[in-house]
Amino acid sequence: MIQPEQQRRAYLEALGIDVWVPRDEPEPAIVEETETADEPAAASPEPPCRDGLDWPALREAVSDCRRCVLHETRTQTVFGVGNENADWMIIGEAPGAEEDRRGEPFVGRAGKLLDEMLRAVGQGRDQVFIANILKCRPPNNRDPKPEESAQCRGYLERQIELVQPKIILAVGRIAAQLLLDTDTPVGRLRGKPHQLGGTPLVVTYHPAYLLRSPSQKRKSWDDLCLARRVAAGAS
Ligand code: URA
Repeated sequence: MIQPEQQRRAYLEALGIDVWVPRDEPEPAIVEETETADEPAAASPEPPCRDGLDWPALREAVSDCRRCVLHETRTQTVFGVGNENADWMIIGEAPGAEEDRRGEPFVGRAGKLLDEMLRAVGQGRDQVFIANILKCRPPNNRDPKPEESAQCRGYLERQIELVQPKIILAVGRIAAQLLLDTDTPVGRLRGKPHQLGGTPLVVTYHPAYLLRSPSQKRKSWDDLCLARRVAAGAS
């Protein structure tokens, strides 16, 4: 059986971390500049847009969606991908340029790192379901606006209802804060399980942030281990 320490090392190695760094070395100050609070989500005046839809109807509703201005600049919608009965559901922020071009979430550099992170805890990309808060790319990769995430929320909620995951992993500040309706920084949201409508939710750093701040990757390992324990019903 692989020991936890061996597995942790394998994870850090897979993520390009020097595993010989002494574990008791002081952590560098957490750079929260990209993971800090910003505008809270506003309530949508619109009714939910997804009640009772099955997968094909939901896919069609998303692909035809014109509920916010992002439909004007998208190449295509990015519905989400993976196992429709997954135990793990991964929720990010919004498609970037590569995702907008290919119609699939997390396929750029950050996506490759996400795949590595998931693989290290035994979850292949085809085993999990990956989706975003927004189904369309915000121009120039700006943050989602409150009205955009409000208009898109029903699609994600229906995806969660259909998948019925054992664990939701919220990656990054935007996803975590919007899902949990809070402006608490990611550094304080991670490390403990939350609930989203009865489904356990664990927060971790966005892989794009981890690419810029590799010192935080060790914490992402702890987060994924927590998610694994929660999914197994142990936390
Ligand atoms: N970042 C996200 O949050 N989602 C993607 O699909 C790609 C990058």
